[in-house]
Amino acid sequence: MNASSTNKNARIEPHELPDAANQQDLLQMMVSQLQDAAILLTLEGEIVQLNNAAIELLGYAPVQIESEHLHSIIRAPWKETFAYRFENSDHHSPFVQPAVEVELLAANGEGLPLSVSLSFMPIAEGYLLANLRDLRTQKAELRKLARLAATDPLTGLANRRTFDERLTSAWQNCTKQHYPISVIVIDVDYFKQFNDRYGHIRGDHCLQLIAEAIANSVPDDSCLAARYGGEEFAVILPATSASTAQKVAGSIRNYISELCMKMHGVDSAVSVSQGIATEIQGQFRSAEALLFAADTAMYRAKMEGRDRINFSL
Ligand code: GH3
Ligand code: MG
Ligand code: MG
Repeated sequence: MNASSTNKNARIEPHELPDAANQQDLLQMMVSQLQDAAILLTLEGEIVQLNNAAIELLGYAPVQIESEHLHSIIRAPWKETFAYRFENSDHHSPFVQPAVEVELLAANGEGLPLSVSLSFMPIAEGYLLANLRDLRTQKAELRKLARLAATDPLTGLANRRTFDERLTSAWQNCTKQHYPISVIVIDVDYFKQFNDRYGHIRGDHCLQLIAEAIANSVPDDSCLAARYGGEEFAVILPATSASTAQKVAGSIRNYISELCMKMHGVDSAVSVSQGIATEIQGQFRSAEALLFAADTAMYRAKMEGRDRINFSL
C-alpha cells in the first residue's frame, strides 16, 4: 500500500460532507473534544458552547454563560475593542484575532490573565472559535524572575541595578515637584579584618544583619534600601530633608552598634561610615552627582575615623 492510498482512506469527499445542521453538530463535537480551553461563538460574539477545559478554567456552568456575549466577561482595555469588533463581524469579514493577552472575568469574580485568539469556522452560518490559554503560571514565573533580577541574593535588599533605576525616577519626581531628595551611602568599617578574623560565613551573616538594620531604619515604602556592592549599601529617601536623613542614618548606626551581641562568636563591635547628600534647591545637577556627593561624604567619614555620619559639603 502506498502513501496516497492511505491518505485517500482518511479524506472526506465533498458528497460525503454533512448538511448544515449536522456540520454544526460536528463542530460542537470537535470543540468538546479539544484539550485546550475553547469557546464557540456566533459571528457576533454570542457564546454558543464552552468545552470542559473552558468550564474548568472559568468556573461558569454552561447555563450561566451561554447566550451571553464574550465581551461581557472581558475586562478593560480589551472589552470595548472586542465589543466593537463583534458588532462589525459578519460572514464576509469575521472578527478574527491572533492571540492577545486579555483579562477574563471568572465565575468567582477573579480576573484571569489569558491569551485569547479567535478563528473563523466557515461552517453553516459561520462561527468563531475562541482559544484560551491560561497565563497565570507564566505571569507568576515572570514576576519571580523580575524579583530575582531586582534583588541581592545574600541580603534580600534591592540590588545596584534597582537602586540606579529608582534613583533616576525618584530624582525626576522630586525635582519636578520641588521636593528635597536625600541619599545615604553606607560602607562597613574594616570589613576585610572582620572576614579575616571571623571567616566569610560569619562575614556573610554580618552583612545580612546590617541589611536588616538598614531596612528597619527606612521610613516607608517610598524609600529604597539597596546593597550597592560588596560591603556597601545605599538608601534613597525621596521627599526627605537632610535632618530626617540624619535621623535615618542615626537609627542605622544604633542598630549596627548592637550587632556583635546578635552574632554568635563575634566579640568586637561592627560599625559603618555613612555619607549623606540632600538635593534641596538645585545644588546638584543630576542623580549621579547627588550619589557621588554622598559617596564623597562617606569617604570623608572614613578619613575622619570611621563609625560616623557625614554630610556632603
Ligand atoms: P574600610 O573601613 O576602609 O571600608 O575597610 P574595609 O576592610 O571594609 O574595606 P576593603 O575595601 O579593604 O574590604 C572590603 C571587604 O569586604 C573585602 C571583602 O572580602 C569583603 N566583602 C565584600 N563582599 C563580601 C561578601 O559578600 N561577603 C563577605 N563575607 N565579605 C565581603
Ligand atoms: Mg568597608
Ligand atoms: Mg567598601
